[in-house]
Amino acid sequence: METALQEIYEKLGAEGLRIARRQARAVAIDSFSWVVWSLLFACIMLDESRSARLSRWLGGGDTLGALKVVLAILLLQNIYVALVEGYSLYQKESRIGTNRQSLVGWLKSRLKQRLLESVIFGLFYWGVYLAFRSRPDNWLPLVAVLVIFLLLVIYLSGYLQVRAGFEVEPLADDSFDTAMKRLFSKAGFKYGGVNVVKASDKTTRVNALLTSKGGRLSLFIFDTLLEAMEPEEVEFVAAHELGHRASNDIFWRLSLHGVLMLIGVSIGHEMISRAQGHWGLYGAADVASLPLLLFGVSAWTFVAQVIPNTYMRYREYAADSYALRLTENPSAFKSALVKLTTLNFVDPEPPEWLEFWFHNHPSVAKRLRRALRFRDALR
Ligand SMILES: [Zn+2]
Repeated sequence: METALQEIYEKLGAEGLRIARRQARAVAIDSFSWVVWSLLFACIMLDESRSARLSRWLGGGDTLGALKVVLAILLLQNIYVALVEGYSLYQKESRIGTNRQSLVGWLKSRLKQRLLESVIFGLFYWGVYLAFRSRPDNWLPLVAVLVIFLLLVIYLSGYLQVRAGFEVEPLADDSFDTAMKRLFSKAGFKYGGVNVVKASDKTTRVNALLTSKGGRLSLFIFDTLLEAMEPEEVEFVAAHELGHRASNDIFWRLSLHGVLMLIGVSIGHEMISRAQGHWGLYGAADVASLPLLLFGVSAWTFVAQVIPNTYMRYREYAADSYALRLTENPSAFKSALVKLTTLNFVDPEPPEWLEFWFHNHPSVAKRLRRALRFRDALR
């Protein structure tokens, strides 16, 4: 396993390592930028009571008008963020060399994603304000139900985004199909087939995800990953994902996010209640206060992310050892990890504080070390 780490450093090279380190830091910078941007957005919207005036203009006092206001504010925020981050993100991806889209194509797909987000979060925050209005002293249970819906939609939209952004076709490879069927049944899951996601004309990044439909699990796999990996390495990637499924990691992660989101909305509620009388706002029932609520939630999310990240890192180890038990193929684990790391330009040993706060995967070096211990235990 130590040689695997050496191999990663050799394959990345000096330039690759520089990119990987920049990417590791970017997670923290992007996360912090989001807070700064939502603060700036709140300042712009609240200054000269712009938000309040917009709300009056769209009739934010009644139920349907409130929806219009919420959608308008989220749309404005998303356009604003897309403009600020969109171009720099494109440049970053192109500089790294993982992007294969033109600027126009890239902006289009980002904009589509942002529009979808505006609608999803628009409906959510609309419901939140209706809850604040109808039950000023007991809105929490209603908002809790909304959070559950929101998380379900976000969970499904990951899959929908893949379907909307890429062409997908069933895999035509009988021997691989047979191997996958065996793997799924060994893990105790009903097999729903393998689908290839045509990602290679847009990106060089590699990815794989599982989705369930009618009680069967299907594997969606990027063609970039199929191209780069041997069948037994792909099998390991699938086995790792099955490990997450087997212990319901996604459910627990979403539940954790739900609780944190609820705390975030409570903090935001406190802020907008205190803002009453400022910037033309009249309290928690006023949809014009949304920019402030959004800032409260994003600031809280920035601080609180350490909790789900720590949980997920711990679950990654569990999924690794599940996959090692299932495949009994430590060398496929090793080589798959080497490829995932070098293809996606991952820093194998990021600074400890960065990993603790911002990363939802343990460092590759740590995963390799764990697997080594596991292999020794098998002997
Ligand atoms: Zn994982």
